[in-house]
Amino acid sequence: MDNKTDAQGGYILQLQNFSVNDGDGIRTTIFMAGCPLRCAWCANPEGFTLKNPMTHYVTVEVVVKKIKKQMIFYRNSGGGITFSGGEATFQPDFLRSMVNRMYDMGLHLAIETCGYFSFEEVYDILQKMDLIFMDMKHMDSHQHLTWTQKENTLILENIQKVSTLGIPMVLRIPTIVGVNASMEHMKSVFEWMESTVPHAKLEFLPYHRFGEYKYEQLRLKLPQTSFETPDDALIKAFTQLAQQYGIEVVSYR
Ligand code: SF4
Repeated sequence: MDNKTDAQGGYILQLQNFSVNDGDGIRTTIFMAGCPLRCAWCANPEGFTLKNPMTHYVTVEVVVKKIKKQMIFYRNSGGGITFSGGEATFQPDFLRSMVNRMYDMGLHLAIETCGYFSFEEVYDILQKMDLIFMDMKHMDSHQHLTWTQKENTLILENIQKVSTLGIPMVLRIPTIVGVNASMEHMKSVFEWMESTVPHAKLEFLPYHRFGEYKYEQLRLKLPQTSFETPDDALIKAFTQLAQQYGIEVVSYR
């Protein structure tokens, strides 16, 4: 078995067929391993590193073979492939190789990214996407550092750069009471969006605890439990506020 990540192959958490949460139609989501962030609420901690008991190495050929078997579902539903993670851009050569193959197959391609990458390094990959999801976790860089172990400067820059590609973009806010789910914070996000990326759509991803069992399996420290899920009324209030800024709120969930 190969043990490196390059244009021939790399590490994934899983390849999930019949996924309907990360783009239009029926999709296959490829959850790629490795992530530069360490979000305190992360539901996929098996994506932190390339190699751990919950990841495995796969070649591009094997992935393409599996994708080919699903073609009828993509065609009939207007679906396609979504690259997710972990962080989808963490293994750029592996990602590029898969994207080039699937682009040539005429598939609808989407990517979900935390935005922490070298734009110049992945520019050619992003250009081939039909839809780009980018996370927006906190407008305050110090808070961002506290909660994710990285500042937000590079991420905000990249959101801006990606918006110039003219590809449909959805900013996703993992919405967590105790971190970023306040009217004051959302107002700062929407003001920034209105002035910087006015064509981006917005999606709220309410915090959940579904991934906690994985921390035990990986013998990692459990995430902070004081986080809370925002209720429907709060999400509705954020949605109404976003609409006042002319932002379209969408839901793929
Ligand atoms: S960016 Fe996503 S995968 Fe990476 S640590 Fe944060 S929540 Fe987890």
